Amino acid sequence: MTGKELRSRFLSFFEQRGHTVVSSSPLVPHNDPTLLFTNAGMNQFKDCFLGNEKRDYVRAASSQKCVRAGGKHNDLENVGRTARHHTFFEMLGNFSFGDYFKKEAIAYAWEFLTVDLKLDKSRLYVTVFTDDDEAADIWHEQEGVPRERIYRFGEKDNFWSMGDTGPCGPCTEIFWDNGPEVGCGKPECAVGCDCDRYMEIWNNVFMQFNRSADGTLTPLPKPAVDTGMGLERITTVMQGVTSNYDTDLLRGIIAYVEELSGQRYGDNQEASVSMRVIADHSRATAFLIADGVLPSNEGRGYVLRRIMRRAMRHAKMLGFEDPVLFKTANFVLEAMADAYPEEAKRRDFVAKVVKNEEERFIQTLGNGLRILSEEIAKLKTAGQTVIPGEVVFRLYDTFGFPVDLTADIVEKDGYTLDEPGFEACMAEQRKKARENWKGSGEEAVAAVYRKLLEEGRQCEFTGYQTTSGHGTVT
Ligand code: ATP
Ligand code: MG
Ligand code: MG
Ligand code: MG
Repeated sequence: MTGKELRSRFLSFFEQRGHTVVSSSPLVPHNDPTLLFTNAGMNQFKDCFLGNEKRDYVRAASSQKCVRAGGKHNDLENVGRTARHHTFFEMLGNFSFGDYFKKEAIAYAWEFLTVDLKLDKSRLYVTVFTDDDEAADIWHEQEGVPRERIYRFGEKDNFWSMGDTGPCGPCTEIFWDNGPEVGCGKPECAVGCDCDRYMEIWNNVFMQFNRSADGTLTPLPKPAVDTGMGLERITTVMQGVTSNYDTDLLRGIIAYVEELSGQRYGDNQEASVSMRVIADHSRATAFLIADGVLPSNEGRGYVLRRIMRRAMRHAKMLGFEDPVLFKTANFVLEAMADAYPEEAKRRDFVAKVVKNEEERFIQTLGNGLRILSEEIAKLKTAGQTVIPGEVVFRLYDTFGFPVDLTADIVEKDGYTLDEPGFEACMAEQRKKARENWKGSGEEAVAAVYRKLLEEGRQCEFTGYQTTSGHGTVT
């Protein structure tokens, strides 16, 4: 079963059970400054959960584009290292706005996995919130899941909240055992272990509260259900592989990187990490730009820039000396045109933005990397392992190295960054800037993108002018 088939299978399963299929909202949340990027299927329904908005349905299902980089749910550091985390992924979800609750939600999830998809029950586990006896009993009594396969976890894993404020509540999650040959192999490895063996596939949140800025939980007018299942993860299960990167959803882009680099995925561990990073970051880059985010030095644009620069560094590690991500980003949009036709139409614009960003950074990337290796050589002779704050700052300020990029580069050799030292340099620079402010260089950069945007508009690029649908810029 292909990823595409699974997406539609999920949606029609819920459609047949009275759910209205709603299309994905853009990655830039509409009217929600508290949220960096759309990070779950429920985001677009936030007001329905809060009781502030009425729709003509009380059950919905969707396949939602999500980005988890920066902000509360940040998986940037996990990409490349785990087999199951992406910055960009699709979340399948079913939702009840004050309609059904725990019993029905659990029944639907179990039916979809074990009857519709016919998953082997002996490889499935479930978790509930510490004191949620109700959910545990439903799993056992209603669905026949043995008690020893039901785990109880605390706030961190089984209490979901969208952000620091907003709807939240206890949840129950479903895990798939990828088998003993996958993961850390430690004797204590079990559901909840950080390794790839027990893979969380589906989260069912029982939304009961709204959390306000001071942390108070207020009961929602009507309890609701919000669920999320990673499309890439369930595809991994259904395709009998153990890594998202081996599913048809990611394999195509990896194959394209293999073709461009002349290297084979899986031959060399370091190169494989780089290929996964490029595959993942190309998807995030392509979809973020298609949804109106442009690389910049602050806010959402800076998160995008960090993703892109990290990908560029991995491209360099694979031996690419010239821009290449504009090709992989373009490839992604073309390959996903069936599911995301609007985004695919913007691929020329996306490619231009990416190429421009690559051209700007390639030279300084090489220079910055040289400075960094000289510094490491010095530290090695001195027997030290902390990169001084001024060096981290110089890389940031002169060479455009985001701090997390520097950290990522030195980490595998056991080096860490002097972050307080870096912060001190930053504070010093801000002080100086305030003293002799004469206009900012960012203006020139913004002008370049404005020009690209204008060009994009002239050729069939209507997304940014419409006020609804995928092209909305908020
Ligand atoms: P994990 O513990 O594996 O990081 P999570 O608990 O942070 O996942 P949820 O917030 O519960 O994830 O999101 C619901 C579902 O979305 C998860 O069960 C998983 O299938 C999927 N998912 C979450 N984060 C990612 C990601 N970074 N990449 C791919 N799929 C993800
Ligand atoms: Mg997570
Ligand atoms: Mg989790
Ligand atoms: Mg979870």
